[in-house]
Order: sequence, then C-alpha cells, then structure tokens
Amino acid sequence: MAFLATPGSTAEVLRKYGFHFQKKYGQNFLIDGNILEKIMAASGITGQDCVLEIGPGIGTMTQYLAERAREVVAVEVDRALIPILEDTLSAYDNVTVICQDILKTDIRRMVEERNGGNPVKVVANLPYYITTPILMGLLESGVPLESITVMVQKEVAERMQVGPGTKDYGALSLAVQYYAKPETVMQVPPACFMPRPNVGSAVIRLTRHGQPPVRVKDERRMFDFIRASFNQRRKTLVNGLANAAGLELSKEAVTVALGQMGLPPTVRGESLTLEQFAVLSDLLPCGSGKDAGTADAWQKQGGK
Ligand code: SAM
Repeated sequence: MAFLATPGSTAEVLRKYGFHFQKKYGQNFLIDGNILEKIMAASGITGQDCVLEIGPGIGTMTQYLAERAREVVAVEVDRALIPILEDTLSAYDNVTVICQDILKTDIRRMVEERNGGNPVKVVANLPYYITTPILMGLLESGVPLESITVMVQKEVAERMQVGPGTKDYGALSLAVQYYAKPETVMQVPPACFMPRPNVGSAVIRLTRHGQPPVRVKDERRMFDFIRASFNQRRKTLVNGLANAAGLELSKEAVTVALGQMGLPPTVRGESLTLEQFAVLSDLLPCGSGKDAGTADAWQKQGGK
C-alpha cells in the first residue's frame, strides 16, 4: 500500500471502501506529507520508542510513525475505519489498532502492558471536539509520558501557552503549564486536510516537566479550584469559588485566604498566576468536595 499523505491516494482509499466522513468524530484527514515529516521531526521518535496515536483515521500518520518507531498503538473509535486500517497498515507488523473510545480507555494499563510501564510518546492529529479532555486525561492520570506532539485547533494551542491578564488565559493554560512545557511547532492551514476544517490548526509539543513548576499539597484540589474559578469568568474569585457546586467553600473562607495572600476580595481568577493558585489552594479549608480531576470534569468544562 502506497503512502496515503496525498489528496489522490486518500481519495482513492475513501472511494475503494465507500467511506463517509463522520462530522461527530472530528474527521479531518491529513493529506500533506511535508506536514507529517515536520510532525515526525518535532516528536523526535526513534527506533526505541513506543508511540500512542489517538485517532489513526485511515492510517496516514500511522504509516509515518510505523516507519520510525519500535511500536505503535493506535486507538480509533470509528468501527468503519478498522477494515481500512487493516489494509493500509498491512505492511507493518509493529502496529496494533484498538477500536475504542480514547476517553474510555485505561491508557495507564495499556502502557503497562505494551511498554512495561516505560514512558510513551503521544503523537496525533486529534479530534478537535475532545482535545481538552484527551490532553488533561493524559496529563492528570499519571500515564508515563515523555512528550505529546499533537495537531489541535489553533486557538486551543494559543490558550495552552498564555499567562494571566490575557483573554485566552484559563483552566487549560494553567493545567497544561503545571504538567508540561508547551511549544508551537507550526501553524497548519485548512488546505492540508480532507475535508478542510473550518478553523486553523497548529501542531503543539508538550514536554512533560520532571517536577511541576510549583508545589501544592493537593494538585487535584487545586485544579478543582482553578476550573471553578474560570467556569464563571466574569465573577470575582470569592463568588466563583463560593458558588461552585461540590467545593463547599464560604465567601468568608475565600476572602480570608485571599487576604493572607495580600489580594483584595474583588480579584478575579484570570489575574492569578499558577503559583498564586497553588498558595490559595493550600490556604483554603478542606471541604467535603468531590474529587473531579478527571477527563470527565474537563469534558464538562467544554471539550475543545
Ligand atoms: N490521524 C488521521 C489523520 O491525521 O489523517 C485522522 C485524524 S482525525 C482529525 C481524528 C480521528 O480521531 C478520526 O479518525 C476519528 O474517527 C478519531 N476519533 C474521534 N473521536 C475519537 C475517540 N473518542 N477515540 C478515539 N478516536 C477518535
């Protein structure tokens, strides 16, 4: 089977199998070999690596990965793509395709089984409707990871890298920067995909920190606070946290903690740094709040 990363060979495979794109699965297949070469270079894959690919589609990127890595595990939700992948990847004995929803996959166990619990590299052209829950699920669940190199919506790539005081700053910026160093590899125009997405895209590389940049007693609790602060962006932090279901914090408790940090009760979440959120989280009293630090909680926050 020839390489698929051209409009002609992608169209041929789609025709051969009578495949119809499913919008609900965010299917925009890459048709540009140059972009794939750059993604491979940015991910730094070597013959020792085990790579996890999320959403292989018809196997366009999987072919590039299989040529370079020791092993590729590709998780695809759309059953209609499985017979196509069997065909397009038939030349490779180092690829395993798993037909499953990545958000329901026990990735930690998969990495344990496939790579003896050693760190994997994640490389993918992600389905944009669930970018945030996928990335946060990977980062928060303690899956051993070396790096994540992924295509995402351009705005989401920007959101991951900004700091306080910018309009795109939010829970995703803080969470990504707590776990990893984000860098944009390149911008990718809609013409590089079939069908063309309505949004611009960017490839981002997240390199996992050895140690988080701030110390906090309970990181899950800190992220519950962060999500609650940005859920109600226009509210002050006092109102946002005191109104958040599950946290069981009083306005007085938040005001006192902010005062100890030298911050006024009128401050909004969007002006706090990661370090300040860590201090606030350690100062706030423990409620009986539910632990919501999962991909699920991030999905509720909005998928992208
Ligand atoms: N990797 C291919 C490429 O670059 O041409 C396809 C990328 S396409 C943007 C996203 C892929 O993710 C599609 O194949 C889609 O079916 C798959 N997908 C969508 N939701 C998924 C989920 N929850 N779990 C696993 N795969 C999913």
